[in-house]
Amino acid sequence: MDASQAGTVDALVLGGGISGLLSARELAAAGYRVTVLEAGQEWGGCVGSHVVAGLTLDSGAESFATRSDAVARLAGELGLAGRIVHPRPGGAWVQLPDGPRELPKAGVLGIPANPWDPEVRRSLGLLGSLRASLDRILPASTVAAADVVSVAALVKARMGRRVLERLVEPVVGGVHSADPALLDVDMVAPGLRAGLREHGSLAAAVAAQRRNSTGPAKAGSAVAGLDGGMHTLVGALLSDLRGRGVTLLSGTRALSVTRVGEGWRVGTAGKTYDGGLLVVAVDGPAAVGLLEESVPAIAGRKPGAGPDVQLVTLVLDKAELDDRPRGTGILVAPQTPGIRAKALTHATGKWDWLADAAGPGRHVLRLSYGRVDGAGQQPAGLDADDELLAASLRDASALLEVSIVAQDVVDWDVVRWPGSLPFAAVGHRARVTGIREACSAAGGLAVVGGWVAGNGLTAVVSDTLQQVRKLSA
Ligand SMILES: Cc1cc2nc3c(=O)[nH]c(=O)nc-3n(C[C@H](O)[C@H](O)[C@H](O)COP(=O)(O)OP(=O)(O)OC[C@H]3O[C@@H](n4cnc5c(N)ncnc54)[C@H](O)[C@@H]3O)c2cc1C
Repeated sequence: MDASQAGTVDALVLGGGISGLLSARELAAAGYRVTVLEAGQEWGGCVGSHVVAGLTLDSGAESFATRSDAVARLAGELGLAGRIVHPRPGGAWVQLPDGPRELPKAGVLGIPANPWDPEVRRSLGLLGSLRASLDRILPASTVAAADVVSVAALVKARMGRRVLERLVEPVVGGVHSADPALLDVDMVAPGLRAGLREHGSLAAAVAAQRRNSTGPAKAGSAVAGLDGGMHTLVGALLSDLRGRGVTLLSGTRALSVTRVGEGWRVGTAGKTYDGGLLVVAVDGPAAVGLLEESVPAIAGRKPGAGPDVQLVTLVLDKAELDDRPRGTGILVAPQTPGIRAKALTHATGKWDWLADAAGPGRHVLRLSYGRVDGAGQQPAGLDADDELLAASLRDASALLEVSIVAQDVVDWDVVRWPGSLPFAAVGHRARVTGIREACSAAGGLAVVGGWVAGNGLTAVVSDTLQQVRKLSA
């Protein structure tokens, strides 16, 4: 080893997103000396922040699912328990080709717990609700027993096309930027097929998941956030890691991984780092690319990159929005003509802390663009910032039914997330299981992150804790 090479550390973590930072915390708590290598200049990955019109806003994730208490518990350990907040009541809407409807509250990924709930009835119509209620009499083995199945196949077989098109496609498009026909149900709605087998119907499985969710979100929205934004979790994690003596190296991209004796060596531009344990917490294509030479069993299993997502944030002076015409926001059904956005979040209509910070008459809207269609293709999207701004003004006006023009804009920003929402194609659960078995057989190695856990902070936090505890034991 020459002078340009760093000394041995007990554990190396590649990637400084939430899964990497949490891995470092667990390893440090278990007594390891830890070094984290992050390619970018910022920490937190998809849990980022930006300043628009003087407001510090989330630039990526802005809430977490409350179907388990994983994130709330982490926030509590980091001293943020008192900052957990719930969205303002009123819920979200969905824009259908025939107009806007309130999004039924008691669902999972748009799948209703009760097809006769008045909000569900209004979205589906009588025939749609009738078809959806067939779910209760179909044998539980329908679709539940198949080896792998897409979200669309499950929903269509149990509840019919209208539930799929009018409820599930808009929600799945908003959350995963993809068509439900392409997504592995076991990745994006873990536990739902097991619930169907246990409770006898999809609706009952959804109801059971909702009953088990934590906190006041039970009755309405299934998410919570943090006063000040989700990115405050990253700030708290970083202070915790510094307090534990973890070495945090930003601007340090891992370029290679090799087996050296019982440990691992990571090459970067300029230095190599050795560690007894290695946690790879980068995106799927990068993780498999880094590991396939040292763990040949995973060669050729690289997942496809996720869709490219663009977020346009508008800060507006527009008192008409004080009435929150679409509650916390609106998801757009893919067949809706004339609208390019897949979702609009009325951030000041959703979070009290942000409405207070913005002040009366000032509003924050966030529109997201980019989704993969049923053929697995991402149609050419809007590219330049000014095109995205123009589209967001048109879309916001149509979706909120309030005229919004350039003169209303106090400030705006575009954030691009290329490939950052991993694409859990049908069969992904089986692929991930194979990759994890191969990594665990290699010894001293774990792969974590959204591409293996499933998108979303709740899935990532609980899976990362499980994997890293197994590794350090
Ligand atoms: C726009 C957007 C909005 C979202 N909204 C929500 C939401 O509201 N609620 C929710 O629960 N989830 C949301 N998600 C999903 C959630 O943010 C992710 O599932 C989660 O943050 C993924 O964390 P991660 O650590 O797996 O990956 P990432 O956050 O992607 O972190 C991976 C890190 O690895 C680094 N890296 C990559 N290659 C290398 C390398 N070779 N060497 C070193 N470092 C490398 C990257 O720079 C990055 O920092 C959203 C995601 C996006 C993109």
